[in-house]
Amino acid sequence: MEKFVLPHHHGEGQTEEYLQKQLDRPETFQNVAETFRLLDDTSRVRIFWLLCHCEECVINISAMVDMSSPAVSHHLRQLKAGGLIVSRREGKEVYYRAADTEESRLLHQTIEQIMEISCPAR
Ligand SMILES: [Zn+2]
Repeated sequence: MEKFVLPHHHGEGQTEEYLQKQLDRPETFQNVAETFRLLDDTSRVRIFWLLCHCEECVINISAMVDMSSPAVSHHLRQLKAGGLIVSRREGKEVYYRAADTEESRLLHQTIEQIMEISCPAR
């Protein structure tokens, strides 16, 4: 295979091949972009962050974030479709919480590191 050569040469090209190999797989970057797209809305970040600390129903979440239930439901659907939260039905009530996944935990940490606050629950 032909060695990839950049238009500008700034020295040893040890990592150039590795970088190019990664760049040639757009789908891996697409996954990252889709994950961050889930957090491109302040309300969704607030709801996701809340659900990292407790399990709640739509009505209580709406009260806590001071938004209408339909608006909260809309965000919950997106977060759930993206795999960041899960739901559990108990009788007539549906409870939501952050998914127990590495991705979800990492985003929780990242959000708090960005906010520079300490976690009250963990
Ligand atoms: Zn936390």
